[in-house]
Amino acid sequence: MTVDMYGIMAEYDEKRRVAEDKMLAKRAQMYKNYPELKKIDDEIRNYGMKMTKLVIEGGLNEGDFKAMEKFMHHLILRKKEILLSLGKSEDYLEIKYSCSLCNDTGYLEDNSKCPCLVNRINQELFKTSNIGDLIKKDNFQTYDASIFSEEISKKHGVSPAARSREAMKICFEFIDSVEDKKSSNLLIYGETGTGKTFLCSSVAHALMNDSVAVNYQTSHNIADICRNYKFSDAYSDNTTDKIKYRSLFEDEVLIIDDLGTEGNNSFLTSELFNIINERIMGEKSTIISSNLGINDIMSKYGERIASRIIGNYKTIELIGSDQRVHHQFR
Ligand SMILES: [Zn+2]
Repeated sequence: MTVDMYGIMAEYDEKRRVAEDKMLAKRAQMYKNYPELKKIDDEIRNYGMKMTKLVIEGGLNEGDFKAMEKFMHHLILRKKEILLSLGKSEDYLEIKYSCSLCNDTGYLEDNSKCPCLVNRINQELFKTSNIGDLIKKDNFQTYDASIFSEEISKKHGVSPAARSREAMKICFEFIDSVEDKKSSNLLIYGETGTGKTFLCSSVAHALMNDSVAVNYQTSHNIADICRNYKFSDAYSDNTTDKIKYRSLFEDEVLIIDDLGTEGNNSFLTSELFNIINERIMGEKSTIISSNLGINDIMSKYGERIASRIIGNYKTIELIGSDQRVHHQFR
């Protein structure tokens, strides 16, 4: 992910500030024209503070508390009546945030990203990263089934076209389950030129259009992100490197494209295990595409990673014997 999160969060701070300023300006105007409103607001505030103080000091029995609550309710009702009689809405003097889910903080109560923030990040991703270009070219709308051969492959007992249709179905199921907030994992493997990147990009496109936070990386990039974070001078809590690193664990969907093409090293292997494992534990969905089948993944990355994949991922092998397929896809 190459999104400037600090820039986006600054936009949110600004949105909140503007919303609050607007409310204050409206309130000042209304108080000037209708002093009774100010009187009631002052009363609501003072009475609220008095109630809180009494509750904290413990000097309030249930009967008194109910009576005070009733009076408070009466004040609020009176304020609404005045606003309505002036032709305003009941909540005319409340702060109007542009997103009522997160009040323009970007985060929901459970600390997850608000859909508005995910949309904003995706918008930035489309603009700034190579996934934007990839997605424009490779998505389910540009899928052309005719490039796959209907001829049955002797080795696999099925035609590339039939296998491609199966793969599409599994990808749609993956999208559905993510949108139903259920986690799901896929390993899409096959030789170069069988359409793995096409499928990954299409799934990313569909999910991003539905406001899902998708992090799309080649395994090469993942190695870079981990290295930059772990070996940077500023090994602190507040760096872009850390945000990029944590996103690998925390984004709703992670797509690791082209696993196996990067140079092998034990550093990446241990980072990959942590990412794959933590995502399974946290019920975050992951897609891995690779030119390696599970046995090759086992020999290259070891038994720990392979067994996590075997136990938790659905596997599709893409096949292609037809030359046209090889021309169409990287
Ligand atoms: Zn929001």
